[in-house]
Amino acid sequence: MIVVGGGIGGLGAAYALSRRGLAVRVLERASAFGEVGAGIQLAPNCTRILDDYGLLDEARSLGVLPEAMIMRDAVDGTELTRLDLRDLERRYGFPYLVIHRSDLHAMLLRACERAGVDLRTSQQVTACANTAGGASVTLAGGRVEEARVVIAADGLHSVARRLIVDDEPVSSAYVAYRGTTPTASGRAAEVDLSEVVVYVGPRCHFVHYGLRGGELLNQVAVFESPKARAGEEDWGTPDELDAAFAGTCDFVRGGLPDMWRDRWWRMYDRDPIMTWVDGSIALLGDAAHPPLQYIAQGAIMAIEDGWVLGEQVARHLAGDGSVDWPAVLAAYQAVRPEHCRRVVTTSRAWGELWHLDGLARRRRNVLLRERDTYDYAFVDWLYGPTALDPSEEPPMFTPIPLASARPDALTGTGG
Ligand code: FAD
Repeated sequence: MIVVGGGIGGLGAAYALSRRGLAVRVLERASAFGEVGAGIQLAPNCTRILDDYGLLDEARSLGVLPEAMIMRDAVDGTELTRLDLRDLERRYGFPYLVIHRSDLHAMLLRACERAGVDLRTSQQVTACANTAGGASVTLAGGRVEEARVVIAADGLHSVARRLIVDDEPVSSAYVAYRGTTPTASGRAAEVDLSEVVVYVGPRCHFVHYGLRGGELLNQVAVFESPKARAGEEDWGTPDELDAAFAGTCDFVRGGLPDMWRDRWWRMYDRDPIMTWVDGSIALLGDAAHPPLQYIAQGAIMAIEDGWVLGEQVARHLAGDGSVDWPAVLAAYQAVRPEHCRRVVTTSRAWGELWHLDGLARRRRNVLLRERDTYDYAFVDWLYGPTALDPSEEPPMFTPIPLASARPDALTGTGG
């Protein structure tokens, strides 16, 4: 079988399928396998899968196991709410881990190599099609490769997605700046690396946590670009970064000089789609469900997708090694789109909540401060075991009464 794209999603799927005895070829367009960016947060619904793959100890050794996740107000710096990550690990059985993207990606790559995955770079796929015996991919230059099944893990601008839906990425008008700083000296040395902290503010937020056993401080600054809102092409530039955070507290503004200023990530998602399978071609990861990153589940969903495929292959594997692919893909299609739809739409709502201003911000802060640290109702549906069947999908919990934080819907106290 063929996996298009060797990002975290593609490599995760390749590993999940090859450990079931399948011959898997990954076609990656870049000239080398790798990941750009900085840190990534892996919640228990992902570390549970890494444990199943026998990779959790390696991931622990590469990352950081923080003790708390804290939300603060970006304007006054005060704490709004927190998760006790030690208690969270006891509840879900697996840790909350933060890790450098390139370390996670390299770990999956090594696992694929050990499992015998055929890993190929400089392979730009230009088209996918169903064939009599399965599916084919056409590569730049015209070569065609055939396989029983093609898994398209080719990201936000997926070629295969066009077979299923004629849609476009949705711009949020938000942009992310990232940066990693050695913690040996300077401001980074003062930051408590046992915490993952998000400062939420008007049309902006700022995240920090430690990486590589505490050697690096990872910081992310995200804001709404006025130029994007005005329809200008050149949006998200460093001058906008500085202006967006001008009203935030000293700690947040102090982190801005640590951002890489020569690159930034404009943030897009897509409207959810409920069909991911077309014949012998299946979408996976951002190709199927690119989210805004506010609940930090994009790469996790991609890893879950691959794990579900691997589990379904195990269920539909005959004694002679043949796989009932229609049954596997039907089971995948039955369970994953609804979960990921929930994540994509919740991420949008969460972003709205984070970025409130004025009276709505103060109302939100009252609501968040009232939350019991040990109330897990709003993450149970995410952090519990990944469903293999729709009947296992927990009911969705609407985390914060977002509507009641909006000024038009508010009555009563505060203000
Ligand atoms: P991609 O990473 O886009 O990989 C696609 C791969 O396919 C690439 O290697 C690409 O080169 C290749 N490719 C593309 N087109 C072709 C083609 N035509 N032919 C061959 N190869 C092709 N997620 C989390 O879980 N936790 C977090 O904390 C988190 N934080 C985030 C913070 C930010 C600022 C952002 C922007 C995202 C964050 N995410 C997070 C989301 C996460 O990064 C993505 O959802 C995830 O990386 C998607 O992986 P993927 O493999 O599906 O797609």
